[in-house]
Amino acid sequence: MKKLIIIVLFIFSGCSSPHFDIIINNGKIADGSGSKLFSANIYIKNGKIIEIGNLPNALGDKVLDAQDLIIAPGFIDMHTHAERRSLEFPTVENYLQQGVTTIVGGNCGGSPFPINDFMEKTVQKGIGPNLALLIGHNTVRKEVMGTENRLATNKEIDEMQSIIQSAMNEGAFGMSTGLKYIPGAYSNTEEVIALASTVSKNMGIYATHMREEGIGLIKSVKEAIDIGRKANLPVQISHHKAVGKTMWGNSIKTLELIEEANAEGIKVTADQYPYTATSTGLTVVFPAWSLSGGSKKLKERLQNPQLRQQIKDKIIWNIVYDRGGGDPASIVVASYPNNDKYNGLNLAQITKLKGLSPTPDNAAEILMNLVYEGNGKGIYHCLNEEDVQRIMAHPRIMHASDGSTIEFGEAQPHPRSYGTYPRVLGQYVREKNVISLVESIRKMSKLPASVLGIKDRGEIKNGFWADLVIFDQHKIIDNATWENPHQYPSGVSWVLVNGKISLENGIPSKNLYGKVLIHNE
Ligand SMILES: [Zn+2]
Repeated sequence: MKKLIIIVLFIFSGCSSPHFDIIINNGKIADGSGSKLFSANIYIKNGKIIEIGNLPNALGDKVLDAQDLIIAPGFIDMHTHAERRSLEFPTVENYLQQGVTTIVGGNCGGSPFPINDFMEKTVQKGIGPNLALLIGHNTVRKEVMGTENRLATNKEIDEMQSIIQSAMNEGAFGMSTGLKYIPGAYSNTEEVIALASTVSKNMGIYATHMREEGIGLIKSVKEAIDIGRKANLPVQISHHKAVGKTMWGNSIKTLELIEEANAEGIKVTADQYPYTATSTGLTVVFPAWSLSGGSKKLKERLQNPQLRQQIKDKIIWNIVYDRGGGDPASIVVASYPNNDKYNGLNLAQITKLKGLSPTPDNAAEILMNLVYEGNGKGIYHCLNEEDVQRIMAHPRIMHASDGSTIEFGEAQPHPRSYGTYPRVLGQYVREKNVISLVESIRKMSKLPASVLGIKDRGEIKNGFWADLVIFDQHKIIDNATWENPHQYPSGVSWVLVNGKISLENGIPSKNLYGKVLIHNE
């Protein structure tokens, strides 16, 4: 009897069709490597890609027809701040809608802390896309030194190193800096090299929001490269750009510097969002010294006539030569929780509302008053389209959003949080021909995966996790605009995260399939 059962089982399994969780038929595959499109079916089981080809007898619990559609590896967004609100809005829908299946958080020097607590909470709550984290230099420095405007002592550097070592043990992929922000702005290069050396021992990366991206850009790129050289680790220049009219065109020089560094053996890459405006806090145009000690101290300084004048002079300089793009009309309030009516208005408009002429001088006064009353975020139209395209086309630059998890409809945020990836594929690939489809997909998948050291994502390959995005290359486009940013893109049919359908025709799954990724695992 036993023998008979075995024979029956043998015959049955021998004749039966291979069975999969999901089969995607008829698509054109851009596998992430940058090589040309090919037609094949994809067979998925237990979250992974099992087969790429054509298995005529295969059966699937779910079969997707990708006729006339592109299948690409899910996009890996190297530069986000999405973790700041991912526990509040765990679907992280504005990223899933774009085809992003992995977000990297903890950028620009600011990260959750301790990161293992945050990782545990994320696992408990669930998350739509996968999440990888960096440990933030500003976060660590604040832990050890507060926001004091001074250099670190050797003892403080030791303490920071041990915090960074713990974060690396807990699974961080590297360290980020925000040398434009407080308190990172008070550190010198030696401090960053010392901390980056700890990251280097753990095979992590150094991602940097550099000290300056306007006047001072070239020096800052050189500093970033020097940190890579001396600490011996890969450098990722964050949201690369040339800020302010006087600096436009300098991307020629920065890209040369990046090439020279690579020729020297230092791994330097960068990321970029496809827009001509930046977005960050309203205090970015304030001098760093004025922000030491927090908002209470800042208020005291704003009440002191002499200090107020010094702060104002720097703000005017920044409006004219740097982030302000030469004109108060180029600075738009993105969110001002204290008074929603300012959201979407530029500084020239707000100045006029107050009965003043929109000069940089008056705009600086208005800005100081706004920050005195409460903080907010701005959008700064200070970049040049030629630089954007030149940077984008460079093979060592990847696409990234620099965006956040967004509450749909709230305030007037930068459209990059909704539109980055579809915008690249629609506007820059299809309409402007700045780069090819397969090259842009490489910059959205394999390139970031390889920089992060993620070995089983970022390509469509047997044995890789089935993080996939299926889209119509003729229709994909961003819809989020400056005036109306809360709009999801068009043209994305399905998004799979870890082999599960996370988004189908614009509707996210109720289940959250993302994982917290651990470095070197
Ligand atoms: Zn940044």
